[in-house]
Amino acid sequence: MASISRRALNVSPSPTLAITAKAKAMQAEGIDVVNFGAGEPDFDTPQHIKDAAVASLQSGFTKYTPTSGTADLKKAICDKLGRENGLEYKPGEIIVSLGAKHSIYNAVLATIDPGDEVIIPAPYWVSYPEIVGMADGRPVYVDCDESTGFTVPVEALKKAVTSKTKKLILNSPSNPTGGVYDRKQIEQIAELAIDMGFYVLSDEIYEEIIYDGRAHVSIASLGDDIKKLTITINGFSKAFSMTGWRLGYAAAEKPIVAAMEAVQSHSASNMVSFTQPAAVSALNGPQEVVDEMVAEFDRRRRFIVDGLNDIEGISCAMPGGAFYVFPNVSGLFGDKVKNSDMLCDFLLEEAKVAAVAGSGFGADNYIRLSYATSMDNIKKGLDRIAGAAAKLI
Ligand SMILES: *Cc1c(COP(=O)(O)O)cnc(C)c1O
Repeated sequence: MASISRRALNVSPSPTLAITAKAKAMQAEGIDVVNFGAGEPDFDTPQHIKDAAVASLQSGFTKYTPTSGTADLKKAICDKLGRENGLEYKPGEIIVSLGAKHSIYNAVLATIDPGDEVIIPAPYWVSYPEIVGMADGRPVYVDCDESTGFTVPVEALKKAVTSKTKKLILNSPSNPTGGVYDRKQIEQIAELAIDMGFYVLSDEIYEEIIYDGRAHVSIASLGDDIKKLTITINGFSKAFSMTGWRLGYAAAEKPIVAAMEAVQSHSASNMVSFTQPAAVSALNGPQEVVDEMVAEFDRRRRFIVDGLNDIEGISCAMPGGAFYVFPNVSGLFGDKVKNSDMLCDFLLEEAKVAAVAGSGFGADNYIRLSYATSMDNIKKGLDRIAGAAAKLI
């Protein structure tokens, strides 16, 4: 009988995209909304990257490419991983996909059987549990909060491991919390993964956006044993402000990459041809643009954290990376507003401020604000949140 599949019915639409859509609809009606919902940098893609795409298009590079990406791009990715992450991969161990999200999807499909458990630290990026669910895997959440800088202690991870554990998803710096794991923690996680023999999917999409002199550590760089178990995920969306281009990649042992390639060859085929030379130009071209963007994010980060902590009922930890703050707003809960969803509705309607409820990230005492928006917007938004919060206290 004709009916929608159980698999599709079990997927929840992305709450981060939903709030952004609602805010944009209000803006289209002429309502002045301050949008803290965005999950993308507010900078334009650097010119030299655009130029490379235009030149490639003009030269007629418009046909299918190898499924896993062009040889030039895979070489540039290997060079980048060697230079910046201390990772030695060969081009045959790289696969380029339609955004890092697609890389994660392929990686999960290639390694998860029905019933396999995937450990996901919470708060988590909304797509992880959905992707694991689409593969009929079972997400196992391990909670953390601001008392540990939004990182899960390895002892807590250990307790979550069972005979069915197939994979851990690690996201440092984290969306939505900005939490960053330090080298010692990453070493402990690597030891646990080796001892128990599970994969680590390391989503490093925010590696460049990291503050206060912290160093990003790629877990696969810690030795051959952990490298064999790791699927390193990265992409161009965040570091190079290229969210619309849909460019991501994975690096892993050959059999994993081959399985991902088989999956991708029957779904997406290759990534858009003429954006691949632009991706080469992003990796091999000047990197100052990235540093400038991060310096600006840093300025906004301090400002928004201070501003939020001045508001009664809100307490906000200083994030170590990414471009989100994840304030604890449970002090505002009461008769009128009982949870993060109600608070975000209240903020949008009363204060014309768009933020994403923590519930979608598995953490209902929080909301996520993106500071990938102008300083003026941040100032205006903070004033509005303060006004709305005063009505709840
Ligand atoms: C933005 C984001 C991605 C994916 O980005 P793409 O645009 O698909 O490359 C992956 N993981 C996290 C945590 C993100 O925030």
